Amino acid sequence: MKSMKNAFLTYRQAQLCAPQVIKVSDIPFEVLEEGDILLKILRATTCGTDLKTFKRGGHPKMLGVPLAGQEGVAFGHEFCGQIESCGSSVTNFKVGDFVAVANSSPCGQCKFCARGEHSLCPDLKFINGAYGQYLKIPARFVKTSLYKLNSADEIAFASLAEPLACVLHAVRKMQIQAQERVLVLGTGPMSFLFMQVLKHYKCYVTLVGRQESKLNFAQTCGADAVVNFSSELYTNMTTSPQDNYDVVVEAIGLPEMWQQAVNLVRRGGRVCLYGGCARGTTVDFMTERLHYDAIELKGVFHYSPSDFVMALEWLRQNKIDSAVYLNHIRGLDDLENIFMARDDASASASALKFVIDPWLF
Ligand SMILES: [Zn+2]
Ligand SMILES: [Zn+2]
Repeated sequence: MKSMKNAFLTYRQAQLCAPQVIKVSDIPFEVLEEGDILLKILRATTCGTDLKTFKRGGHPKMLGVPLAGQEGVAFGHEFCGQIESCGSSVTNFKVGDFVAVANSSPCGQCKFCARGEHSLCPDLKFINGAYGQYLKIPARFVKTSLYKLNSADEIAFASLAEPLACVLHAVRKMQIQAQERVLVLGTGPMSFLFMQVLKHYKCYVTLVGRQESKLNFAQTCGADAVVNFSSELYTNMTTSPQDNYDVVVEAIGLPEMWQQAVNLVRRGGRVCLYGGCARGTTVDFMTERLHYDAIELKGVFHYSPSDFVMALEWLRQNKIDSAVYLNHIRGLDDLENIFMARDDASASASALKFVIDPWLF
């Protein structure tokens, strides 16, 4: 189905053109096939994954960066909006519906999907293009990855369903129990989400970070304790055997921190390797430590559709304080400054994420 409007107009989209280069371009509307939907994007949020993709030049699973001479690629993966038009065979959604979009679509047919391990699906497809005014949602995503919102009000927080789904998935995989002592490495938005979710599980949560202002902010947001990486306390924690933390979550994505996480967990504890490291990196672990101290290492990535549903529900029920991620609203033209940390708010402890309103000029 092709409307007259689609044939003649263009929309604004921020594209990643090379590592550390974002350009906002006018993009022609694509023709909708019968199962597709055209989404008017109302809100997107920035995320640590986008920052890494911007800096490192691509993401091993989600997005490749164009080579020299090629055009830019659609960028951004946390978003929600309103349905602008539907292909002729779409029956479960209608024009005007407000929806959240999960950024991946598992095949639903392979042995991994059958086991509920959707993030391992060999045919897991990703959608990018949150940083734009419109996006064509392909038929497969319409079937697997679109979630109707109850009202326009939910647009304010629905883009957080994606990162929250990742955290809920990790917490589920780690089989976190009430009262456990959890050490979270990092003070990015994901660490704050971990902290808020873990507090729900009645865990005792300690955050480790570098920026004193962020650590203070973490305490006002519910962290039971904070430790600075440059403190003597942290040095002691890494050099003398620890029996304090049942679980250590690495939410930074640096090989040296993956290694450090093993030193920080108690004997018999679990390490959640959550932060994705740069492609091709490797780590060394002391075999003695892993074997005799019975340390469990668990790699976790992404989420299953059920985690996304749960995340939306948590947001609706205000189980986490979503307001702390939604303080700073910017337009498409501000993205490069945000990722280069040139935005005025970048230094602020409360700038965990930026909300992108593609209609803001
Ligand atoms: Zn599959
Ligand atoms: Zn994200």
